[in-house]
Amino acid sequence: MDADYDAIIIGAGHNGLVAAVVLASSGWKVLVVEANDSPGGALLSGEVTLPGYVHDLFATNLNLFLGSRFFTEYSGQLAERGFTYRTSSFPYANAFPDRRWLGVSTNLEDTLERLRRHHPDDAKGWSELYELFQRVSKALFTLYGSPIPSLDLLRSFALAARSLGKQGMLELFQLLSSSPRELVDTYLVTEEAKVLIASWGLHLDFGPDVSGGAVFPFLEAFSDMQVGMSVAEGGASRLVSALCSLITDKGGEILLGAEARRVIVKDGRAAGIELVDGRILLADKAVIANVAPTALVGGLVDPEELPGQLLGELRRYRYGPATMMIHLALSDPVPWAGGDELGKFAYVHLAPYLDDLARTYADALAGRLPREPLLVVGQTSAVDPSRAPGDAQVLWIQVRALPSKIRSDPEGQLDGYEWDNAAEAFADRVLKKLESHAPGITDIVQDREVLSPSDLERYNRNLVGGDSITGSMHLRQNFVFRPSPRLSRYKTPIDNLFIVGAGTWPGAGLNAASGYLAAHSLVMREKLIGTSKHLSKYLSFARRG
Ligand SMILES: Cc1cc2nc3c(=O)[nH]c(=O)nc-3n(C[C@H](O)[C@H](O)[C@H](O)COP(=O)(O)OP(=O)(O)OC[C@H]3O[C@@H](n4cnc5c(N)ncnc54)[C@H](O)[C@@H]3O)c2cc1C
Repeated sequence: MDADYDAIIIGAGHNGLVAAVVLASSGWKVLVVEANDSPGGALLSGEVTLPGYVHDLFATNLNLFLGSRFFTEYSGQLAERGFTYRTSSFPYANAFPDRRWLGVSTNLEDTLERLRRHHPDDAKGWSELYELFQRVSKALFTLYGSPIPSLDLLRSFALAARSLGKQGMLELFQLLSSSPRELVDTYLVTEEAKVLIASWGLHLDFGPDVSGGAVFPFLEAFSDMQVGMSVAEGGASRLVSALCSLITDKGGEILLGAEARRVIVKDGRAAGIELVDGRILLADKAVIANVAPTALVGGLVDPEELPGQLLGELRRYRYGPATMMIHLALSDPVPWAGGDELGKFAYVHLAPYLDDLARTYADALAGRLPREPLLVVGQTSAVDPSRAPGDAQVLWIQVRALPSKIRSDPEGQLDGYEWDNAAEAFADRVLKKLESHAPGITDIVQDREVLSPSDLERYNRNLVGGDSITGSMHLRQNFVFRPSPRLSRYKTPIDNLFIVGAGTWPGAGLNAASGYLAAHSLVMREKLIGTSKHLSKYLSFARRG
């Protein structure tokens, strides 16, 4: 039977869409199938509270995407298709119970001055950390953008070793193995300054005491200080629409409301997919699955087709704590106790301190609702005022490090509840915490939308148990172990079947990396095969001649 497509991509998460763009740009006939009625996966915006109030339902901070190789190549074409973004030069702050706060802006001197007023030694430690960032960030970002394992990686490692020298490499390895607490304790003195960096750890699943957890918060804290924080103008879905237009303009197709039931494998080679409605779609060059790693063994692929050891590894793949989203439509800006200036920051973390983060993280793993949940208060309207009419605002509140399943509740009211029944009551507690930092905020809430961990998974099956990062990012599941050394470089043991997405290297976030790297390597492989065919034709012709 003739194939319908060169490549079929399962899942229109941003990595699936990015892979489709790269392949279609090289002339491949691609089809993306998406189970939902809208593309984008965890990148989606909508008027979920009141008309005219545009909320980013899940991801909002586009810094990783804007720093990606994919964006460097396609920014012009995305802009032509309506994608623009807004950048805040006040990326993040932390607020504390006594009305104090600390904030980081792109103006280094202002940031240092704020820290100096707080404690001169914090300003000194911050400068030293920034110097460390300037020394090692190039090597780390190159690692982040390279396939693992690869020659590219070895080359950049050798370059890093040459430019950093022995001392610099030791410093880099020490950083790579540190926990967030070890890093901040080394350089900073006050609890307020320490949590300014450590809060970022919980955006993945790096509680303060997780070894190897320091690098992400360190890079995020200082790269945001360099570049600010960006969101899509008019809503995250504008970026998704631009990606989809790029695909269709290049001859690709996108099928929505189309769930892939299984990958069809013939003679050890992926030949296409079957949809849940029974339709069979064939592809002769690649099937790329933008799915959670466990989906491969959860029915998408016949277990008979996979080696036993890989099955075991995938079944042992661990998901991290859950996330909950609360979207507020506000009639006015947030009445921060710490003053109006706090209203300028794209994110305000409310933890309050490092020990609270550690307790919250341990509680999440043990199934306990936290006493002090970490709130990431995203002031989207401060970055992109077009999201709500007049002085009104949309507020994006992410509650990180929650238990996927609630076993116990310190207040004794929600013990053993399912998230579907507990979400609204827990959201009330979250708003109470916010009210203590912003007295009067509950009076200006015009509407709210609460998305519990179960809602997250219902919307996107890759967010298993409400885990926003599709699998723990701890060292045992990072680098070549994400999701398994047997699936490195996005290949599977089945010919022509590839896996991309947050569950593969370099992991979660809008980094556009796995989709880009996998598609790029397919294009390169085809070019190589084409060149060697030409060469052998030429050689046999030359021999005959
Ligand atoms: C609440 C939340 C907030 C976040 N905030 C940020 C942020 O601000 N910045 C940031 O960089 N990152 C953020 N992240 C992380 C980031 O959004 C994700 O890591 C990223 O979107 C994952 O992209 P992906 O390509 O792996 O696919 P996903 O976004 O997971 O999408 C996968 C798609 O595949 C579809 N699919 C799966 N199986 C099938 C099937 N069998 N058939 C058809 N379709 C299928 C799903 O329906 C889904 O649409 C956040 C995540 C969440 C959940």
